[in-house]
Amino acid sequence: MILTITKLDKIMKKGKMIILSGPSGSGKTTISHCLLSKFPELEFSVSCTTRSIRHNEIHGKDYYFLSINSFFSKIKKYQFAEWEEVYPNLFYGTLKKEIFKIWKSNKHILFDIDVKGGLNLKKKYPNNSLSIFIMVNSINILKKRLVIRDHKNCEDCENNEKNINYRLNKAEEENSYAKLFDIVLLNIDLSQTKKKVIQIVSSFIYG
Ligand code: 5GP
Repeated sequence: MILTITKLDKIMKKGKMIILSGPSGSGKTTISHCLLSKFPELEFSVSCTTRSIRHNEIHGKDYYFLSINSFFSKIKKYQFAEWEEVYPNLFYGTLKKEIFKIWKSNKHILFDIDVKGGLNLKKKYPNNSLSIFIMVNSINILKKRLVIRDHKNCEDCENNEKNINYRLNKAEEENSYAKLFDIVLLNIDLSQTKKKVIQIVSSFIYG
C-alpha cells in the first residue's frame, strides 16, 4: 500500500534512496550492514514491525517493535510511507518521519524491505531511488540460511519450522518480481556480491 508523502517531496531533490529487497535469507541484511560501514553518508531506515524481537536485536536500531494496536493506529493516522503484511499477521512499515529525519540530516537512505514495499517506494521516487534485488538461485541454500538464523533466535521450534516453510514459499513468489527492479544481483558468493553492490552504490551516490 502506498501513501502520499507531500512534505517530503520538497526536500527529496537532494536526498537519494537505495532500496535493497529480496527474499528473507537472501543476504540483504548482511549486504546492508556492509554498505552502512562503507558509506558514512548512508543511513539505515529503521522500520516498524509487529513481530517479536529476536535476542540480538535492539528496539530503535533494528526495528521499532510495536503492538498490533499501535501499528494500526499509525496506519489510521497516515504515518507510514508504505506498509505491508509481509507474513500473515506480521506487519512491517516505513514511517514517513523516518525518511524525513534522514533526508533532513543530509544523508541518503538505505532500506532493507520486502519486495512489494521496495517496488512501492521505487514507484513513488523514480528519480532519486535505486532499487536492488538480491536473488538466491537455490531454495536449498535459502533454507539452510533460514534454519541457522531462526535456530539461534527462537525457542519455539514448531512455529519456527512453519515460519521457515512460509518464507521459502514466499521466496519463489518474490523472485518473480525481480525483473521490476533497477538491478538484480545473484548472490552466490557473498564477498563478490558485496563488492558489486559497493561499486553500484558508489556510482549512484557520487555519479
Ligand atoms: P525480518 O522479520 O526477517 O527482519 O524481515 C522480514 C521481511 O520484512 C524482510 O524481507 C524485510 O526486508 C521486510 N521488511 C522490513 N522492514 C520493512 C518495511 O518497513 N516495509 C516492508 N514492506 N517490508 C519490510
